[in-house]
Order: sequence, then structure tokens, then C-alpha cells
Amino acid sequence: MSTDCTYCGSDVNDHDPVFVSERRGDDREETGRFCNYACLSAYIDEQNLVDGACCRIDV
Ligand SMILES: [Zn+2]
Repeated sequence: MSTDCTYCGSDVNDHDPVFVSERRGDDREETGRFCNYACLSAYIDEQNLVDGACCRIDV
């Protein structure tokens, strides 16, 4: 399995890796791996993954 950061392409094993999985039916499928939360956060911002996806809206 690749160990390249989903965001920046570095080898996550050189950092403090964070892994993201999504549920597919009854299984979990890894959908991203990141050097650390900074890369995860940047990726989320870039992909607009949180737009309209909050589980609780208190606006
Ligand atoms: Zn990275």
C-alpha cells in the first residue's frame, strides 16, 4: 500500500501520520493518509470537504 501523503505526496512514515477512513456498507475503506493534522486540515480546506457536511449546525 502506498504511504504517500494524500495532500502533499511525502512519505507519511517520516512524520506523525493521520489516517482517514470512510464507511462503505459494513466495511471501512481508507480514503486518505496525511503526514499530520496540518496536511489533513489543508486537504480538507482545499477540497471543501466540510461545506454543508456538519453533523450539528449551530449557526
Ligand atoms: Zn503531507
